[in-house]
Amino acid sequence: MEKDLGFLSVIFDNIRENIVVVDAENYEILHANRSFVESFGIPLEESRKKRCHEVTHGNDKPCHESGEECPVRLAAETGRVSKCVHVHKDTAGDSRTSRLTAYPIRESDGTVRRVVEISEDITEEVRLQDEIRKKSEFLDNILKNSPDGIIGNDPAGNIFLFNEGAERIFGYTAAEVIGKIRASALYPPGGARDVKEFIYAEGFGGCGRLQDFETKIVTSTGKLIPIRLSCELLNEDGREIGTIGFFHDISGRLALQNHLAESEAKFRTLFETASDAILSIDGDGLILMANQAAKRAFEYPGHEIAGLDVRRLLGSGQEGTWEVLARYASCSEAGKYVESSAVTRSGRKIPFHISISEGVSGGKKFYTVIMRDVSQIKAYEENLQILANTDSLTRLYNRRQIYPIMQRELDRAARKKISFSVLMIDIDHFKKFNDTYGHAGGDLLLAGFADKMRSSLRQMDSAFRFGGEEFVALLPETTCREAAVPAERFRLLIADSRFPMPPEGHLVSVTISVGIAEYRGGDTLDDVIRHADLAMYAAKNGGRNRVVGYDHLAKPETPR
Ligand code: GH3
Ligand code: MG
Ligand code: MG
Repeated sequence: MEKDLGFLSVIFDNIRENIVVVDAENYEILHANRSFVESFGIPLEESRKKRCHEVTHGNDKPCHESGEECPVRLAAETGRVSKCVHVHKDTAGDSRTSRLTAYPIRESDGTVRRVVEISEDITEEVRLQDEIRKKSEFLDNILKNSPDGIIGNDPAGNIFLFNEGAERIFGYTAAEVIGKIRASALYPPGGARDVKEFIYAEGFGGCGRLQDFETKIVTSTGKLIPIRLSCELLNEDGREIGTIGFFHDISGRLALQNHLAESEAKFRTLFETASDAILSIDGDGLILMANQAAKRAFEYPGHEIAGLDVRRLLGSGQEGTWEVLARYASCSEAGKYVESSAVTRSGRKIPFHISISEGVSGGKKFYTVIMRDVSQIKAYEENLQILANTDSLTRLYNRRQIYPIMQRELDRAARKKISFSVLMIDIDHFKKFNDTYGHAGGDLLLAGFADKMRSSLRQMDSAFRFGGEEFVALLPETTCREAAVPAERFRLLIADSRFPMPPEGHLVSVTISVGIAEYRGGDTLDDVIRHADLAMYAAKNGGRNRVVGYDHLAKPETPR
């Protein structure tokens, strides 16, 4: 028996697994092989005095009392080979996994008093398995959660992988596709052939690969969907075993791109067809962009306006205007119109209403300036002003203008201690022209008369239509005596003039009666007008076609 044991020991010691013979009653180690001794670093003699769980687990309690299965106990109890896996710390404190197999040794009386336990360290095997499991879980997760469709097929085109992303894009379930549909059926006619060709070609990510290829696929309902596809050939031992493809649905992106392009086109049309000049200007005042109206207004037909300093458009000497405008952009006045002017390339000055606002693009400040050419409006306003202030028939100042204009002259005269005179002019026997040539004839005569009046007065004088055929001339810095000269000259001019009358252009002549009044300190406007009127009536009474000074009325015998 001893000899047998010795022989067995030699065999045991040459086996790589840990082998230990344990007393089934108290788990004492009866024998252990070299591998076991080396594993736990406790000499055999010392081990023999200890119990199995003390050596292997460093635990006082038997395994089954510490919540682990004890294969020795099971083998002893059942008389059958028992297996289990133990996880416990080794002498270095690292967790190790062992697969234990306990063989009951049946004594001649049939009882089991000893058990041989063979343990195999499967820590590395378990770690590898765990790693494989994790990797496969990771891959499963990718397949499951990938928003892209992932499809695998063999060289014959039979699909073996069809993830949830593919189900979403193609509208098939994996069960409907795997082993049932060929990959080529997922493309429109010719599509699969193209893809295959490109995979083998060099230019699309290298031979065996296809990268970011944009094409279309066909869904279960026959709808065509644009996708971006990346494919790779699968090889095993240099043999092609299939293809894996990643399908990215780009219909949303394309729709967005189209939408953007559409709205960009709309805005561009708006920008280019706007009748106002629109400029986009950077923070330094350089023009980034200008619409057609701006190019037209400033006479820059091409692209030369881009890059131009906006200060140049605002005209020399007006450089500060831009800084003032730019300040408007950031205050509550932003977007409101301010009145300013700009200068075209040829130097023409144009009045503009300018609205400015600021924005930020790509972290940089920019201004949007809308400029409305108001020269027409200005001209219209001026015209309105003229219409409001003048008489439409004679184009002389109307009666309303006499007072403000004369008041200015009166103030000046009072201030500078100078004088001014007023001529009150009435056409003699005007009524007869109306009676003879009709109202139109009278009108024509009035207009012709006004032309003569306008042209015979000095630049500084003003002419007014006071009433029907009565006119007033205001002669600044002129005394009554001085005024008598132009008054007389004018009287003669009219008397010598011939006016054509409708319908045949018959030429007629008229005469006028003129009254002169000079402003004297303390006079009111009404006084001056009244004096001129009195003088004019005196002229009428004196036989018409004459000039009478108010001064002569007061002291007819002492001319001034
Ligand atoms: P006198 O020498 O006393 O000034 O005689 P007169 O006929 O010029 O004066 P009167 O005041 O009697 O008549 C003026 C006329 O002028 C009467 C009116 O019909 C005419 N008249 C006033 N305004 C207009 C006008 O705008 N157009 C025309 N055609 N006639 C006008
Ligand atoms: Mg009259
Ligand atoms: Mg008259």
